[in-house]
Amino acid sequence: GDVVLDVRDVEKVYRVRDRTAIFADRKVRAVRGVSFTVRRGENFGIIGESGCGKSTLSRLLSCLEAPDTGQILFEGNDIASLRGSELLGLRRRFQLLLQDPYNAIAAHSSIGRTISEPLLIHGLGSRHEIEKKVKDVMAEVGLSPALYNQLPVGLSAGQRQRVNIARALVLEPELLILDETLSSLDQVEQAKLLDLFETLQIKRGITYVYISHDLAMVRRVCARIAVMYLGRIVELADNDTMFGRSAHPYTRALLSAVPTVEEKPYRTETYLLEGEPPDPIDIPAGCSFRTRCPFAFDRCATDDPAQTIYANGNASACHLGLNGLPVVDVARLAAA
Ligand code: SF4
Ligand code: MG
Repeated sequence: GDVVLDVRDVEKVYRVRDRTAIFADRKVRAVRGVSFTVRRGENFGIIGESGCGKSTLSRLLSCLEAPDTGQILFEGNDIASLRGSELLGLRRRFQLLLQDPYNAIAAHSSIGRTISEPLLIHGLGSRHEIEKKVKDVMAEVGLSPALYNQLPVGLSAGQRQRVNIARALVLEPELLILDETLSSLDQVEQAKLLDLFETLQIKRGITYVYISHDLAMVRRVCARIAVMYLGRIVELADNDTMFGRSAHPYTRALLSAVPTVEEKPYRTETYLLEGEPPDPIDIPAGCSFRTRCPFAFDRCATDDPAQTIYANGNASACHLGLNGLPVVDVARLAAA
């Protein structure tokens, strides 16, 4: 299908004050050379441990921050280059849903008012049209339109998230970025909202980017998945490959931790991920995973592995190929 989101070599660096004052300021390379595309109507997953750059990436994708270098194209438009009404027009077509909807929901505003707000900001419709649209969307997400004039007090976490979803849906978005959106909900409520997202996808053709540490959920819903480590995508693969025979040692370690009742059809070896990721201020030279990688060899300490792209479009950034042997580095051979 066609590409909705095209992320091209995006970098984001933050400066942090060093408390010891030995260095005036230091740099955290939160997102490093990230590239991927999301196709219309698909569920794309981004997974990784906390601190891997997922949240920074979600802010970049939803236009809350701009990348230092690289581009993010939404339907072919570089979102950083748009201004004014052009930006506002495009901006409503992709929406971010965060984990905790409490911030987005004002305690003193009625539920109807909260959901109407984006339409008022964008100047979309008369008072009467807005009320009708909001009540329709409330029904669509499973909120009784009778709650229109009620205050949000007493709503469950799941209902609050539905208010948040309705608030995004009134703008008729094409892309929803779900950053740990379901993480604070119980299993039953999560399952209901996943069903709702699926229904919305069928009815409205919405594309989803699931950013999550919940590997089991991502496995259930995402067709393609990117794995991040220290700000970089180390592997990108379709669901079967990712959860059956992933190429990158980090992915294999991360997924070994997922409890499963199924037999693992391809992979028999599992191992635990030891230690914590290094401080993103101090990313190791060479392969950034080498300090935790059981397969590290000499080249890993000096050369940062480029992404090897396989025939099926999957990619892995590791000096070892699918056969476990070092991949031939063509650029290196040419230079020698
Ligand atoms: Fe491990 Fe080396 Fe591959 Fe990095 S490049 S994941 S250290 S084998
Ligand atoms: Mg985070």
